[in-house]
Amino acid sequence: MIWKEREVSGNKEELEVLLRRLPKRHALYGQVERDNYAETAGQAGEKRFDHYYAASRVTFPHYMLHNVTLKSFRVFQMDSVMITPWGVYVFEVKNMNGRLLFNSHPVQMLQMKEDGTVIGRRSPIEQMADNEWLLEEWLRERDILVPVRSVLVLSYSKQIAENVPPSQPIIFSHQLPRYLHTLPVEQAIFNPDEMKGLAELMVAALVRFVPKPICSDPRYPIEVMRCGVWCAACNRIGMVRRYGVWFCPDCGVSEKNAHIRTIRDWLLLTGEPMTNKVGREILGVGDRHLVSRLLKEMNLNKIGTFKDAKYQL
Ligand SMILES: [Zn+2]
Repeated sequence: MIWKEREVSGNKEELEVLLRRLPKRHALYGQVERDNYAETAGQAGEKRFDHYYAASRVTFPHYMLHNVTLKSFRVFQMDSVMITPWGVYVFEVKNMNGRLLFNSHPVQMLQMKEDGTVIGRRSPIEQMADNEWLLEEWLRERDILVPVRSVLVLSYSKQIAENVPPSQPIIFSHQLPRYLHTLPVEQAIFNPDEMKGLAELMVAALVRFVPKPICSDPRYPIEVMRCGVWCAACNRIGMVRRYGVWFCPDCGVSEKNAHIRTIRDWLLLTGEPMTNKVGREILGVGDRHLVSRLLKEMNLNKIGTFKDAKYQL
């Protein structure tokens, strides 16, 4: 059974804010686009894993926890963790295109893309070995001795993996149902209560992602960010207020709540409470009462009263 679901990634939202607000001529725009592409692919890979897990008929008792971040010597993140009576399985899901060459000396992965570019990356096998070690330490601190095993999951069979050490379990997502179905049942170390206890312990110890304001990174100063109401339909900025709704002069769409995304963008960029003045600036309207009403309706945390009111996430 699923004990913990996968949540929406905070990192992805940050990248999307940057794609909306950075001018296209900004030196890092291309990098943000590539990061966002990789993040989107990663999420699609996890979704595919979850789909095939749901389609599996697992006959032994277990708890599945998705996206688990814990702290041992340092913080470490695992894509999916399965607690069984005889051990803990950690699944690392990778969705990268092209040929993936796993080198052992030095330990590194080369990604050879279809367009011929070659990128050196940290090997997922090394990442899994680190996670295994950190999880074992985390368990040891709690007097839990149980084998930890890592499984590398490639999302699509068009991904070509070469040179994977024979000792490393590796499957494609679509093979997950059969992998789980044929997993040898070993002698139990945990009774059902202990398994549940471990699942609860992990959830209680989760390290939550606390986003830093995007503009606290000196590469992304607030001065360069593009103000204005963003149109979700055509991905342009510049919706105007007309007859009580937001209207896009570019694509002609009308939207009642377009300001919400724009105000949220700004709160994520600055990390500072939103004032009426800043609200008017970024929404491109002069009416203080209108902005006051829109901010009030957003259910943000209000600090101060009347003219000095500020709003934060
Ligand atoms: Zn539009």
